[in-house]
Amino acid sequence: MNEATLKKAGQHRVAAATESSPPVRVGLVALGCKVNQYELDALGTELRRRGYVCVEADEPADAYCVNTCAVTATSEKKSRQLIRRLHHQNPQAVIVVMGCYSQRAAATVASLPGVRLVIGTGGRARIPDWLDQQMAARISMAGDGEGDGDGDGQGNRDGGSAGAETRVHPVYRLRDYEELPTAFTRHTRAVVKIQDGCSLFCSYCIIPHLRGPGRSRPPEAVREEVRQLVAAGYQEIVLTGVHLAGYGEDLPGEWTLARLVREVGKVPGLTRLRLSSLHPNEVTDDLLQVLEETPAFCPHFHLPVQSGDDDILKRMRRRYRADQVRRLAERLRRIWPEVALTTDIITGFPGETEAAFARTVSLCQDVGWSRLHVFPFSPREGTPAARYPDQVEKAVREERARELIRLGRELAESYHRRFVGRQVEVLIEEEDPAGRALIGLTRTYVRVRVRPGEPGRPDAPDESEERSRPPARSLIQVDVTGADAGGLEAVCRSA
Ligand code: SF4
Repeated sequence: MNEATLKKAGQHRVAAATESSPPVRVGLVALGCKVNQYELDALGTELRRRGYVCVEADEPADAYCVNTCAVTATSEKKSRQLIRRLHHQNPQAVIVVMGCYSQRAAATVASLPGVRLVIGTGGRARIPDWLDQQMAARISMAGDGEGDGDGDGQGNRDGGSAGAETRVHPVYRLRDYEELPTAFTRHTRAVVKIQDGCSLFCSYCIIPHLRGPGRSRPPEAVREEVRQLVAAGYQEIVLTGVHLAGYGEDLPGEWTLARLVREVGKVPGLTRLRLSSLHPNEVTDDLLQVLEETPAFCPHFHLPVQSGDDDILKRMRRRYRADQVRRLAERLRRIWPEVALTTDIITGFPGETEAAFARTVSLCQDVGWSRLHVFPFSPREGTPAARYPDQVEKAVREERARELIRLGRELAESYHRRFVGRQVEVLIEEEDPAGRALIGLTRTYVRVRVRPGEPGRPDAPDESEERSRPPARSLIQVDVTGADAGGLEAVCRSA
C-alpha cells in the first residue's frame, strides 16, 4: 500500500470506529511563543474537523501533541519535564512532539517515555494523518481484544519509546512557508501567523538554526484567514511571526509588513489589530503611517531591545543603538500619547560590565516600559555568543535579572496608574477561576479584572458554547477603580 492509500485507510477506520466507540481525545499543549501557540491551535482545528475531541494537557487523553520551545536552556528543560509529566499522568497515551526543541534534540526527545512521533519545525501538517493511522490501529486492536492490559498497544510495555518515529529534517534550505489550517480557538483574540523563520542570526539566538530562513506567508492567505476569523466573531487579530518585520523579503511584488497591515486593516468588521514584536530599527516611516491610518490598530509596540548598551548591542548583532530606542519611544508617544511599550531584556550577556548593565537600567527608566520581560543570558550551543570568552557568572546574570524585574514592576504600576478614574475599552477573554470577575485586555495590552457594576453584569462566557467560539458581547467599556503592577481593577459600565 502506498502512503496515500494508507492515510486514506487510516482516516476511514477512525471515522468508522468513532461511530460506535467514544471519540478519540487529544491533549494539546504549546510552550514558548505565540507562533507555537498558533501552530498548535491550527493542529487542533484540523483534529476537531476530523472528529477528535481536543482537551487540555491536564486531562486524560488518548494522545498528546506538544509544541516545544528551545529559546533558553530552561525552555528545553520545561519541554522535557512536560513530556515526562504527560506520560506519567497517562502512560497509555501516544505523545507527538514537535517544535523547536524537537528540531534541536530529536534523539533525546525520541527517547523520552511515551513519545511515538517526533516532528521538527516542518511537516506539522502531516500530524493528523499520522494520528488517524495510530488511533485507527488502536481502536481496531481494542476491538480484537488485543489492546487490554497495561501495555501501550504497540509492544512497548515499559512505556519507553523504542518505537518512536523521527521525522526531523534540516531547515537551512527551506524556502516555502508551511500553510496550516485556520486556527479557531476558544479565545476572543486570534493569532495569525504571517511568516516563519529568521535570517538575522543575532549572535545569541538559536532560532534561525531551528526554524530556517525567513519565509513569508502569501498575502492572500493572510487576508483570507483574517476575514474568516473576523466573520467567526473574533474581536482582535494579532499578527505574529518569528521575525515579523522580515515579512515580504522573500515574496515577489515588493511586499512589506506595512503593505500587509494596510491590506489586513481593510477587512470589514475588524475591531482590533495588534502586532506581536518589532525591532526598534524596523519601525519604519511607512509602517508608522499605515498604523496611524488603521483605526483597528492597538497602540502597543513590543520592542525587544535586549540591552541598553551600544557595545553589547553590537556584540548581540542587533542593528540599532540605545539612543535610537529613546527617540523612537518619544516619537511613538507623540503619535499615541498612551502607547504601551513593552520589551525583552537579556541580563549578563557576555562582556556585560556593571557600567553596561547600568546603561540598560537607564534606558529602561528613560523609556518607561509598561511591561518588562527579563531573561538571564542562556548560552545556546551552536551560537557565537556561547563561545564568547568573557561569560558573566550565572549568579551575576541572575542578580541583574532580579534588579530589572523589580524595576519592571515599578514601571508597570506607574504606567497602569494613569488609567485610574478613567473609562477604558476591554476585550473580555475569560472568567476568573472563582467566577467573581471577568478578565480582559485593553487596547494597550493591560490586563483588567472587571467586577459586575451598575446597571448590570455583562454576560459571562457561555459554558454551553462550543470551545471553538469566542464568548459573545466580549468588548465592553469599564470604569477603572484601581491599579497595581499586574494590571487594572474595574467595574463594568455597559451591560
Ligand atoms: S531576530 Fe534575532 S532574536 Fe529574533 S529570532 Fe531572529 S535571530 Fe533570534
